[in-house]
Amino acid sequence: MKFNTKTIHGGQEHDKAYGAVMPPIYQTSTYAQSTPGGHKGYEYSRTHNPTRNALENAFASIENGNYGLAFGSGLAAIDAIIKLLKPGDEVVSTNDLYGGTYRLFTKIYESFGIKFHFIGMENADKIESYVNNNTKLIWVETPTNPMLNIIDIKAVSKVAKKHNILLAVDNTFATPYLQRPLDLGADIVMHSATKYLGGHSDVVMGALVVKNKELADRLYFIQNASGAICGPQDSFLVLRGIKTLHVRMQRHCENGKAVAEFLANHPKIEKVYWPGFETHPNHEIAKSQMDNFGGMLSFTTKGNDYDASVKIVEKLKIFTLAESLGGVESLSGHPASMTHASIPKEEREKTGVIDSLIRLSVGIEDIDDLINDLKQALD
Ligand SMILES: *Cc1c(COP(=O)(O)O)cnc(C)c1O
Repeated sequence: MKFNTKTIHGGQEHDKAYGAVMPPIYQTSTYAQSTPGGHKGYEYSRTHNPTRNALENAFASIENGNYGLAFGSGLAAIDAIIKLLKPGDEVVSTNDLYGGTYRLFTKIYESFGIKFHFIGMENADKIESYVNNNTKLIWVETPTNPMLNIIDIKAVSKVAKKHNILLAVDNTFATPYLQRPLDLGADIVMHSATKYLGGHSDVVMGALVVKNKELADRLYFIQNASGAICGPQDSFLVLRGIKTLHVRMQRHCENGKAVAEFLANHPKIEKVYWPGFETHPNHEIAKSQMDNFGGMLSFTTKGNDYDASVKIVEKLKIFTLAESLGGVESLSGHPASMTHASIPKEEREKTGVIDSLIRLSVGIEDIDDLINDLKQALD
C-alpha cells in the first residue's frame, strides 16, 4: 500500500457488528464478561479500547512501524519513552527543541537522576564525544523548532547502533508524509498528534510508533501502568484527521514554499529559515531524508526590533496569533515573547531566537490571501 492509501485504509477494518466504515466511538470504560476472564479481547479502557486501537493501527501503518501507541498528549508520549530509563542513565538530545520537551527533561527527570546533554546535532560526528557506557537514548527533533535546523537521522542512527543506544525522533514538524524516521534507522518515532496528524486544532494527543516487539511491549506496559492514554472521542477525531493528512500536507508544502519565497524577496526581511532554500546549511540532508519541506518557517526583520515584530503579528488577520501549529488554519507566533519568553535573552539568542524572530505555521487557505495578509502587516 502506498502512503496516500495508508492514510485512509492503513491498519483499518470495517466494524464487525454492523459494517460501519468508520470505527464507532466506543465511549465505555469497561466490557461485559460472560465468566471471569471471558471477554472479547477488551477488559478495561485504560488497557485497550477499540477506537483507540483503530487509531494506533493507523499510526503504525503511516510510520512504517509495527506497533502504535496513543497518549493523552505529545508530552505524555515522550514521558513514556523516558520511563524506559533508570537513574544514572544518560540522554544525548538536540539543543534546539520543543520547549515542553526541554522542561520535562530538565525540571522533572533530572531530579530522578537521569542526565541530559543538549547539543547541536547539525554535524552528527559531534554526538559520539557525548556518548559513554551510561548513554541509553539519543533524542532527535528534526526539523527543529523554531529554527528549522535539519539533523541527519541516518547518520545519527549509525552512532546509536554502533553503541547500542535507542534513537527516538520527534517527527511532529515533518509528519510521515515527508519523513519516515523508522526507515532511516530510528527505534522510536514520536508525534504531538495535536499538530499535523490531528490537523484541525481541536485535539491534544501524542503518538509513538516502533518496529521492535520487545520495545513495543515495554512501552505498552508503561502506557497501561502509568495511564496517560487518550479518550475514544479524541481517537476518532485524530483517525479522521489522518485520512486527509496527505492532501493537507501537499497544500501545506505548496503554501509554505510560496510564503518562504515571498518573504525572502521582501525588502523588510532580514532572513528566512526554511529548509527548502539551497542556502539552508543542511538543505542537501533535508532533500535526501524529506520528500518536501513542509509548512513551517521562521523569519527575522531588518533592524531586529522587538516591538516591530510584535506589531506585525498583531496586524496579521488571517494568520492567527496563537501557540501550536499544524492545523488547517495559518498561525503566527513571536518566540521571544511567547514560547521562549522564559529563557534568558542571552540563552535564547545563542540558538538564533532573536527579538524579531517570527514563526509561521502556514495553513491551507488560498495562497493569495495569505501573501496579501503578510504584505499588509509588513507594510
Ligand atoms: C507540540 C509539540 C510537542 C508537545 O506535544 P503536546 O501534544 O503539546 O503535548 C512536542 N514536540 C513538538 C515538536 C511539538 O510541536
